Amino acid sequence: MQARADIRPGRLNEAEIESNFGDMHPPLGRPEALVEADRCYFCFDAPCTTACPTDIDIPGFIQKIRSDNLKGSAHTILRENIMGGMCSRVCPTEVLCEEVCVRTTLEDKPVRIGLLQRYATDSVIRDKLQLFQRHEATGKHVAVVGGGPASLSCAHRLATLGHQVTVLNGAEKAGGLNEYGIAAYKTVDNFAQTEVDYILGVGGIEVRNGESLGADFSLTDLRDQYDAVFLGFGLGGVNQLGLDNDRSEGIVDAVEYIADLRQAGSKSELPVGRKVLVIGGGMTAIDVAVQSKQLGAEEVTIVYRRGPEQMGASGYEQNFAQTWGVRIRHWLAPSQLLMSDGRVSGIHFDYTRLDDNGKLTTTGDSCEMEADVVFKAIGQQVLWEALGDARQSLEIKRGRIAVNDSRKTALADVWAGGDCIYGGEDLTVSAVQDGKVAAMDIDQFLQQ
Ligand SMILES: Cc1cc2nc3c(=O)[nH]c(=O)nc-3n(C[C@H](O)[C@H](O)[C@H](O)COP(=O)(O)OP(=O)(O)OC[C@H]3O[C@@H](n4cnc5c(N)ncnc54)[C@H](O)[C@@H]3O)c2cc1C
Ligand code: SF4
Repeated sequence: MQARADIRPGRLNEAEIESNFGDMHPPLGRPEALVEADRCYFCFDAPCTTACPTDIDIPGFIQKIRSDNLKGSAHTILRENIMGGMCSRVCPTEVLCEEVCVRTTLEDKPVRIGLLQRYATDSVIRDKLQLFQRHEATGKHVAVVGGGPASLSCAHRLATLGHQVTVLNGAEKAGGLNEYGIAAYKTVDNFAQTEVDYILGVGGIEVRNGESLGADFSLTDLRDQYDAVFLGFGLGGVNQLGLDNDRSEGIVDAVEYIADLRQAGSKSELPVGRKVLVIGGGMTAIDVAVQSKQLGAEEVTIVYRRGPEQMGASGYEQNFAQTWGVRIRHWLAPSQLLMSDGRVSGIHFDYTRLDDNGKLTTTGDSCEMEADVVFKAIGQQVLWEALGDARQSLEIKRGRIAVNDSRKTALADVWAGGDCIYGGEDLTVSAVQDGKVAAMDIDQFLQQ
């Protein structure tokens, strides 16, 4: 984003920015963790475990916290979810394990499972305490495309099963959106790279960053050279607003801006607008809006074309954004970008409603809002143009890769997982589960 009078870095000083970007959920100390662990009823057929996409034995790990067995507790978590550390920070627990916790039903106050999970895993990951042994080498070699949660989870499980893994990752650093996308206030102190190092510490995984499917090798090359292939290249493309001038100055891709923010040496160097409009209703919209506020934007408004219940962001996240002074406007769809001197100066919106068939329609009323920056946060898509022969070779469903329950594609030796597959949740934890499930199936295939 170009700096100019109304879009500039340093709206707040370093100290203010540092304080704004502090840990969203500071970790529990031992006394608090023990009190919290004591609140668990250790339910039989625990609903929290059923709600966890990676099937972590939640009462099991909480029980071990009570007996101060943090290593055992971390093992219970990480054997199901090797990114249990990141997931304890970024999972929307309010709509997963904590939503169904029996304590939520009884007293509207769940056991704080996410924070307990963080308490159990943090020391193990930071101290690089290796909890996993590799099986005897099988002599099989698997190519894993992408360096995000799906790919690293797949690589780790394959490595523990004795296979050799090469991770081919287009970006400069591994971690995927954990490194480039997740809001900075959710993952402080370079935790994404600490976790990547922990995962690679098991051995048997070679990571080649800066090597892209499509540009540096094709899917056919990989199928020729390796015994099996896993695809976890995520979503490289961004949905456009579909309006005239929607690539003009001042109109910014939210994911790209967040990536710049995550990689910035000093956040105070990042240009930020005075009046910011965010178009979208998911986590990305919330994250870019909150972070704009934290950088010192004066007015930040999220505009979504449907109601609060239809937003991809949970009620908790919507409230969180509002506590930062972000306004959320519903039932408004952008119909025209207002331009001044070749750059965006605002948006003309149509009011919307659902018609008798439940279809979104306009009411005939409209309004305008001023903006010096407009963030597009209306979803992402697979960037097939950049992926060489992959599209022709794979079965595609609604723009994403079709897979079966084992995350196997239509090709006998290719699996896929994470955001690039059809039917996923677009969450870190689901990507980790996809990688794990695929690795188990690849292992079966390689044994045949
Ligand atoms: C802004 C934002 C905020 C989010 N916040 C949350 C959150 O708070 N909680 C949550 O649970 N989920 C969140 N998500 C969703 C979550 O980050 C994703 O669901 C998850 O990262 C998907 O993992 P993945 O491995 O499929 O893909 P990614 O994390 O996108 O990783 C894809 C990897 O593939 C690599 N790659 C891409 N193209 C190629 C190629 N051609 N060749 C080789 N490598 C390639 C990339 O470099 C990257 O390493 C957020 C998403 C966004 C965009
Ligand atoms: S549902 Fe709540 S109380 Fe029951 S086991 Fe899970 S965390 Fe403990």
